Amino acid sequence: MHYLSTRDRTLRYTAAEAIKQGLSRDGGLFLPEEIPALRAGQLEKMASMSYQERAVEIMSLYLEDFSREELAAYAAAAYGPEKFDDPAVAPLHTLEGDVHCLELWHGPTSAFKDMALQMLPHLLSASLKKTGEHKTACILVATSGDTGKAALEGFRDVDQTKILVFYPKDGVSPVQKLQMVTQEGGNVGVCSVIGNFDDAQTGVKRIFSDEAIRDTLAQRGYFLSSANSINWGRVLPQIVYYVSLYCDLLHQGKINQGERVNVCVPTGNFGNILAAYYAKCMGVPLGTLICASNCNDVLTEFLWTGVYNRNRVFHTTMSPSMDILISSNLERLLFALSGGDDAQVRSYMEQLAAEGKYRVGGEMLKKLQDLFWAGSCGEAETLTTIHRYFEEQNYLIDTHTAVAANVLAQYRTETGDMRPAVFASTASPYKFCSHVLEAIGEEPWGEGVELLEQLNEASGVKIPERLAALGRKEVRFTQSTEKQNMDQVVLDYLK
Ligand SMILES: *Cc1c(COP(=O)(O)O)cnc(C)c1O
Repeated sequence: MHYLSTRDRTLRYTAAEAIKQGLSRDGGLFLPEEIPALRAGQLEKMASMSYQERAVEIMSLYLEDFSREELAAYAAAAYGPEKFDDPAVAPLHTLEGDVHCLELWHGPTSAFKDMALQMLPHLLSASLKKTGEHKTACILVATSGDTGKAALEGFRDVDQTKILVFYPKDGVSPVQKLQMVTQEGGNVGVCSVIGNFDDAQTGVKRIFSDEAIRDTLAQRGYFLSSANSINWGRVLPQIVYYVSLYCDLLHQGKINQGERVNVCVPTGNFGNILAAYYAKCMGVPLGTLICASNCNDVLTEFLWTGVYNRNRVFHTTMSPSMDILISSNLERLLFALSGGDDAQVRSYMEQLAAEGKYRVGGEMLKKLQDLFWAGSCGEAETLTTIHRYFEEQNYLIDTHTAVAANVLAQYRTETGDMRPAVFASTASPYKFCSHVLEAIGEEPWGEGVELLEQLNEASGVKIPERLAALGRKEVRFTQSTEKQNMDQVVLDYLK
C-alpha cells in the first residue's frame, strides 16, 4: 500500500517515507491510497484480544513495510503497564442510558495525546532505519501545554531521536510547566520562551525554514522533524481505539454484532474525530460521528453550512486544547469525500490561506452531513455539565470531555436518535483542576499541585500517580530565552 499527498496524488511513498517526512513537500498531508477493510469476522475475533494485540491487527493493515513482530514490540512498549495505569489502556466507563465514556487519558501525561505520541516515536525511529537515514531526527515542538509533555514522554530515550520543546514562559498552567521541567531522559531538552504561544510557534517555524541552520545541523548529523498531529504516524494509532471500543462493547455484551454505535468527540485539530471516520470506513459499525466544539465553533458552522470561515474572534476557553481556528486534519476528510480530487483540495486550501475561508459544494456538504453532526458548548454549559455528571452519575470529567458530553446530549434531544453512544474523554480532570473544582462548587484555594489534593478531597477520585509525584521531582530545565534567540538554543542543544 502506498501513501499519497492530499494536494498531489501522483506522489507516492511507502509508509516509512510518509512517517519520516511528516508533511508532504507540496504542503499536503499524507494518507493511504485506500482505506483497508476489516475482514469478515475480524471484529469478533478481536473482541477477545488485548488492546496491544488489537493495535497490531489494525496497524499492520496500513503498514506493509513493518512486520507484525515489529508492531507487537512497539505496542508492548507504548501501551505497557509502565506507561498506562489501566490494563485496558483505553477503558470504557458505562453511564446511564446506553452511554459510555471512552477514557483516553490513562497514559503517562494524563491526556489523550499519549495514545498517539507513545506510538509515533517507535514508528519514526524504525522509519529512519527502513529508509536508510543515518542522521538523528531532532523533534522541535512549540507547545501550549499538552503536546509538549506528551511528545517529551514519548520520545524520551528513543533511538536516533532527540527532542527539544519550547513553551511560552507565562502561557502554560503550573502543572503543565512542572510536568515539562522535570522531564527525565537522556535525549530531551526544554526551554521557555519569553513571550506567548504564537511567539514560540513562529520561532519554531522560522527555524524549520532556515536553510543555513539545516545545513549546519546536517553537517553535525541531525535533521529537524516535527511531532504535530498532521503526521500519519499520529492519526493511525488513534484509529485503534475506535475499533477497540466496539470490540469492548461486543465483548461486554453491551451491543449485538453489527449494531451501530454513535460517537461524539471533543474536537480541535480534527485529528481525533478523523480517526473515528477511518474506523467507520474500515467497517466498524459506527453511526453518526458527532463533532463537539467549544465556543470556537468554526467546525460546527462548517458542518451546518458548508462554509469554513476562520475570520472570527478567537476565544480563550477553559478547554484550551480545542481553541483552534484552523483544523489541519480536515484536509484529509475533504480529500476522501471529494473522491481524491487533489485539485479541489488545493483550491480550498489556497482560498483558506488567501481569504481565510472556503465553501464546499452541495454534493460534498450532503456527504458531510450524512456522516457528521455538530454542536458547540459554551463556558457556562461546560461547568454545569461537569457538575451534573458528578452529582447524578458520580463521574468526574474534565472541561474538554464535558464539551463532548454536552453536545452528545444535544444530539440525542434534537434528533431523538437514542442508539448506544460513546463520547471521548481526552484529559484527566486533574489536568484542569481549578475549573473542575469550580464546577463542582468548590473554591480553589491553592496553586498548581496543591489543587490536586483539594480536588482529591472534594471528589474522592484517585490522583493519577505521575501527577501526584510531580511535586517531589527534581527540576532539570530552567533555561529561558528571548524569542529572537531560539535558533541559538537549537544550535547549542545539537552540538
Ligand atoms: C488535543 C486535544 C483535543 C483536540 O483533539 P484534536 O485531535 O486536535 O481534534 C481535545 N482535548 C484534549 C484534552 C486535547 O489535548
